Amino acid sequence: MYSQNPVFIPGPTNMPEVIRKACDMPTLDHRSPAFARMFKPAVAGVRRVLKMDQGEVIILPSTGTGGWEAAISNTLSPGDTVLAARFGMFSHRWIDMCQRHGLNVQIIETPWGQGAPLDKIEAALKADTGGTIKAVLATHNETATGVRSDIAGIRRAMDAAGHGALFFVDGVSSIGSMPFEMSAWGVDIAVAGSQKGFMLPAGLAILGVGPRALAAMETATLPRTFFDFRDMLKSYAAGGYPYTPSVGLIAGLARAIEVLEDEGLEAVYARHHRLAEGVRRAVAAWGMTPCAVSPDLYSDTITAVVVPEGCNGTDLVKLAADKYGVAFGVGLGEVAGKVFRIGHLGMLTDVMVLSGLATAEMCMADLGWNVRLGSGVAAAQEYYRGSATAMAIAAE
Ligand SMILES: *Cc1c(COP(=O)(O)O)cnc(C)c1O
Repeated sequence: MYSQNPVFIPGPTNMPEVIRKACDMPTLDHRSPAFARMFKPAVAGVRRVLKMDQGEVIILPSTGTGGWEAAISNTLSPGDTVLAARFGMFSHRWIDMCQRHGLNVQIIETPWGQGAPLDKIEAALKADTGGTIKAVLATHNETATGVRSDIAGIRRAMDAAGHGALFFVDGVSSIGSMPFEMSAWGVDIAVAGSQKGFMLPAGLAILGVGPRALAAMETATLPRTFFDFRDMLKSYAAGGYPYTPSVGLIAGLARAIEVLEDEGLEAVYARHHRLAEGVRRAVAAWGMTPCAVSPDLYSDTITAVVVPEGCNGTDLVKLAADKYGVAFGVGLGEVAGKVFRIGHLGMLTDVMVLSGLATAEMCMADLGWNVRLGSGVAAAQEYYRGSATAMAIAAE
């Protein structure tokens, strides 16, 4: 039997049938006008999802990690200083990448479970009277801990310090699922990937690049070739790419944006919030807590559940995969074993989430954890039935 179970990992996410079909297309010459016709709506759609009024959308054959690399290598020079808070595996990996590119990273060490500390960012920028810091890096949604940072708040901190650094935001696990306001938040580069909120296979890095980042590109000297925005923009002007693009994924991206906009971006965000809230009710009913230390930090796309003393979250994830054919996320780095992660982003409904919660409970019972079967499911059921609105089922 082919497993038809949904996945509960924070990417790749479950794919709507219409998006899968849109990716499956005959060979198309990427230098033909037909490609340009297909590419334009994808670019325009990304602009709307990012809420971006100025600058350029760049879509690279890569993944979110490549998006990080494109952001720094196109705008910075060896030895430049960047400021970043480290509070999880994804913020850590971007910092590590900067260091490997010969950048000097001023790191604000922050306990895992907390978000980007606005006061410390403001203080670091105020202390930098010589303007050494060229960019501030922020992970909007730390996928390792399920923590959402206040991006608008970081922009306010930068403005309060009167600092002119560029502002780069990793929105890989938030964009398309949680509100994102590139222009209003003064974000100079926003990074997304195809396999999370956009519900596509992995394979695209999707970037919004604002005017200040485009200006920095002219003088930055870090080496880049495959990810060079200048080559991309030159080819874009002619309707194409400097090399062979992932044509099927770009067709899928245009369709994914239609799917998001048919539901309505605000409705998509509200759905993610409801699904997440149901999961959090279940976690509370289990007597457990999210890794995120306070409600203002709760992510609407991923919950890292702190498991009781003496339990190992990785055991649950292994058992769920082996016995029930259901995927959850393991704890990464500092929180390995201490949490398991429930991804609740992309194509998901109340009913699908309930199946994931039920599976997690079966695993807990199998492992002898002190959790009553049905307790978390019931808490989520009560919440979902009290907050559900009539749902239009898309016929395909
Ligand atoms: C998934 C993820 C990444 C890495 O993206 P890849 O597509 O796996 O390279 C980066 N940042 C965050 C916050 C993520 O969730």
